[in-house]
Amino acid sequence: MCRHLAYLGPPVTLHELLHVPEHSLLTQSYAPRRQKHGLVNADGYGVGWYHPGRARPVRYRRAAPMWADASFAEVAQVVSSACVLAAVRSATPGFPVDESCAQPFTCDDRLFSHNGRIDAFAAVEERLRGLGESGVPDARAPVDSALLFAMAVRLWRRGSPLDGALASVAARAAALAPGRYNLLATDGVRLAATACGDSLYLRCDGESVVIASEPFDDDARWRPVPDGSLVTADAHGAVIRPIKEIACPNP
Ligand code: GLN
Repeated sequence: MCRHLAYLGPPVTLHELLHVPEHSLLTQSYAPRRQKHGLVNADGYGVGWYHPGRARPVRYRRAAPMWADASFAEVAQVVSSACVLAAVRSATPGFPVDESCAQPFTCDDRLFSHNGRIDAFAAVEERLRGLGESGVPDARAPVDSALLFAMAVRLWRRGSPLDGALASVAARAAALAPGRYNLLATDGVRLAATACGDSLYLRCDGESVVIASEPFDDDARWRPVPDGSLVTADAHGAVIRPIKEIACPNP
């Protein structure tokens, strides 16, 4: 089970956000506190962020553990952003440890991450064969999460909102097969996430919003997101609603 995190607020350096907190994503890559499946997240990682004047995010990925990437640690000290989405990976058995499988995935102005797994993936893939959106390389990565990304991209390109699409993908996937479907996405101005089988936390402090698989410090403002919920956040704050109230029944 991976750990993922998204931030929206005043610009922070990637170092401040991902390395400095006591239980940062970097620390979570080898010592997560709330992880129920898998012990470490050593099968790659990725960071996506938005840069002023550029509509599409910048995305950096590696197949190696986050803790082994000294060059990123150096660059992260001088890269800052007001919107960041990052993930550390514990590969689901059966899928390769390859950079193409490290999240976040990206398409257009979006970043996307899936924390979880599709059980009986082969059967689900068969049902959804051909879904891979053309011109979206990440939607064809050899990992279960890519299928969920393809479903989300399809809905977004048909006009579904950032958050509504995530709710619909989680609901449809859960109806097709058991699994864990914690999804996280951003378009640079909003964040959306589902809590669907794994831990999810939200921290709003009036200035910034963080949605993360687990708290990266012991700040009292972290609150758990109930399973079966959709979180939507923007500069004004966050709302939590039941997935089933938002999901479109047959996306
Ligand atoms: N199933 C995805 C993968 O293999 C996500 C894994 C996870 O959440 N641990 O990368």
